[in-house]
Amino acid sequence: MVSQEWRKASVKQIKGVGEKTAALFHKLHIDTVGDLIAHYPRTYVRYPVAKAPGGAAAGETAAVSGRITKAPVVRRSGNMAVTISWVGAADDGIELVWFRMPYIRNNLQPGNSYVFYGKVLWKNGRKVMEQPVIYSREQYDGIAQTFLPVYALTGGISNNQISKAVRAALSDERLFADVLPGEIRDKYGLSEYNYAIRQIHFPDDMDTLIEARKRLVFDEFFFFILSMQYQKEKRVRDKNEFVFADDDFVETLKKGLSFRLTKAQEAALSDIRRDMRGPCVMQRLIQGDVGSGKTILAFLAMADAAHNGCQSAIMAPTEVLARQHRDTFEKLCEQLGLKIPVVLLTGALTARQKRMAYEALQLYPNAMIVGTHALIQEKAVYDNLALVITDEQHRFGVRQREVFAEKGSHPHILVMSATPIPRTLAIIVYGDMDISVVDEVPEKRLPVRNCVVDTRYRPKAYDFIEKEVRLGHQAYVICPLVEETENLDLENVTDYVKMLRGIFPEEIQLGLLHGQMKPDQKNKVMEAYQKNEVQVLVSTTVVEVGVNVPNATVMMIENAERFGLAQLHQLRGRVGRGDAQSYCIMVNGSVAETAKKRLEILNASNDGFAIASEDLKLRGPGDFFGIRQSGELQFALGDIYQDAAVLAQASGAVGELLAEDGDLLRQEHKGLRAYMENFMEARISQMSL
Ligand code: ADP
Ligand code: MG
Repeated sequence: MVSQEWRKASVKQIKGVGEKTAALFHKLHIDTVGDLIAHYPRTYVRYPVAKAPGGAAAGETAAVSGRITKAPVVRRSGNMAVTISWVGAADDGIELVWFRMPYIRNNLQPGNSYVFYGKVLWKNGRKVMEQPVIYSREQYDGIAQTFLPVYALTGGISNNQISKAVRAALSDERLFADVLPGEIRDKYGLSEYNYAIRQIHFPDDMDTLIEARKRLVFDEFFFFILSMQYQKEKRVRDKNEFVFADDDFVETLKKGLSFRLTKAQEAALSDIRRDMRGPCVMQRLIQGDVGSGKTILAFLAMADAAHNGCQSAIMAPTEVLARQHRDTFEKLCEQLGLKIPVVLLTGALTARQKRMAYEALQLYPNAMIVGTHALIQEKAVYDNLALVITDEQHRFGVRQREVFAEKGSHPHILVMSATPIPRTLAIIVYGDMDISVVDEVPEKRLPVRNCVVDTRYRPKAYDFIEKEVRLGHQAYVICPLVEETENLDLENVTDYVKMLRGIFPEEIQLGLLHGQMKPDQKNKVMEAYQKNEVQVLVSTTVVEVGVNVPNATVMMIENAERFGLAQLHQLRGRVGRGDAQSYCIMVNGSVAETAKKRLEILNASNDGFAIASEDLKLRGPGDFFGIRQSGELQFALGDIYQDAAVLAQASGAVGELLAEDGDLLRQEHKGLRAYMENFMEARISQMSL
C-alpha cells in the first residue's frame, strides 16, 4: 500500500501500541504515525562485541556473554519484586538485577548461556548489571556491531518501546508515498523516501546513514523553503501610508542617551529611519550578536513612531523579557523627557489589568506597547499601529510575524534576532526581508573571561561562585537535562540543585528553572533572581534568550560539550552585561578530542559570527550526532550551518520548481501540494527562526 493514509493514522493503530503507550507518546508530541517516524534518533550506539563477564569493567556499557551460574530468585523490596541472578564464575562474574520484572525468572535457565547488555555498576563490592537486556547468543551475534537508535525520551517511555513501535510502523507492507518529484531526486542524487526513513532509524552502516540523512535533511529544507515561498512569490510590498516628518527628533534623542551608539547601531538606525519614510513599508531584519544593543534601536524606532502620532508594539518571547523592556522603555522616556504612554500587555496580567491595557490601546494613539503573544490575540485592537517589532524572532513561530503585522494596516515590520546566520543563508531563510547587521558590541564593555575545564575542576568553580556571590554578584549554572534519564550520563537541574544545596552555605539562595515549570512559577523564580533574592540559578537553557541580569557575573555550563556553539554563545551572553568582569566556565564532560577543540573555539572568541564559521570549518561530513549548532532553527535533522550545501541545493530546487509551476497545479505535483497542505503548514506554524 502506498499512500499518505498511514502517515495520518493514530499511533494506536501500530501493532503493539495501546492506550497507555499512546498517552506516553503524546507527551513527546507524537500522535500520528507520521509524528513517530519523524521522531528521529538523537544519536546511535553500536552494540559492542560480547565479552566474558570478567572482562567487563564497572562504568562500562557492555555485552557480556556467559553461563547463568545461580538460579534466578525473586525477592521483595517493599512493594517491588527484585529478580537477582548471576552470570559467570562466582569470583569473577556479574550480578544481574531486574526490578518489577518477576517473570524474568522464567526466561533464564541456570546452566545456559546468554548475552546480557547494559551498564556495569560497582555496588556492595561487586559488579552489578541492572535491568540488562537478555539475548540468546545467536540473537546477539545478529546485532553486534549494528547501530542502535537512541531516541529522545520522556518519563515512563523506554528507548526500546519507541524503537519497537517505529519498527512496527515501518513494517514491510506499509509504504509512504514519496512526494518529492523524481527529477529533483535524480538531479540531487537523493535516495528514495521509504529507504531513507528506514535507514535513519535502523541504519545498515555509516554510508547508508549518511545517505538517508541527506535525503531527509533535503526534505526538511525543501519543504520549509517551498512553504515559505509557495503562492507568495508574487507578493508585492505594501505601500507606505504613514507620513513621518523629516526632522531631527531622533538625532536629538540620541544626544540624551547615557552612551553613544556604536557605528553599527548608527547604520542600522539610519536604515530604519529611511525605511519608515520610504515608498513601501519597512520589512527589515536586525541581526546582531548578544549584547550588541538591539533594544535601544527598537526604542528609538518606536519613539519615532510616537513622535509622528502613531502606535508601535514590540513582542518578546517571554513574560520576563516583556517586563524587562517595559521597565527599560519607561526609564528611557523619563530620562529623555518623553511623554509617551508605555503599555504592557502580557498573558499573566489579571483580567482587570488586561481590560485596562485594551482600553489604553484605544486611548493613546501614540502608545508604545510592549508585550508577549498576548499582543496578537483577538482582543488586542490597536489604533493607528504603524510599527510592529518582534524581539528574539527566532523564538517565535514563523507565521506569528505575519499575524502580528495583520494587527495593523500594513505597518512597518522590524524583526530582531541574535542568531548569527551567515548572510547567504539569511537571504534564503528570511527571503522577503532587508537585513541590517549590528556587528559590533559597545566598546567599553569588559570581554567575558572564558575557561574550559573538566569535571575535576568543579570544587574550584563552586568556590569561585561563592566568592563572586560574597562580592554581591550572581551566577547561573546550566545543565542539559531537567531530570535523570536512563540512557545518558548528563547532568540534570533537579538533582544538581539538591547537590549544590549541600555545598553552598545556607545564606546563598538557590533557584531552579526549567521549561517544564508553569509560566507563573518560572516568572517568580526569574523575578527573584532579577531582584538578587536568588544568587545562584540552576537552569536548563530556558535562560538562553534575552534575559538581562547585569549583576550576574558567572555562567557555569555543565556538559558544555552537549550544546551547540551558538547556544553556548547565547548562554554566555547572559553575563558580561554590566560593568563588572564576568566569567564563563564551560565544563567539558567528554574526553573526546573533538569536543575539546570545539569548546576551544568559544574559549578563544567572544564573537558569535566568528564562532559559527569556525565551528563549521571544524566539522567534517558525518560529524552530526548529538550537537546542534543552530538550536533555534528547529529542523529535526538539518542544521543550516553544517548542511549549508544541502540548504543551497534545496533552495535551488524550490526556485526551479516554482519557476515551472508556481501554483503547483500540474498533475505530477498533486501529491506534493497535498503533502504541503496536510503536513507542512502545521509544522511550519510551530517552527521558529
Ligand atoms: P541585545 O542586542 O542582546 O538585545 P541589549 O539591547 O539588551 O542587547 O543591550 C545590552 C546592554 O548594553 C544594555 O544594558 C544596553 O543599555 C547597553 N547598550 C546598548 N547600546 C550601547 C552602547 N552603544 N554603549 C553602551 N552600552 C550600550
Ligand atoms: Mg535583546
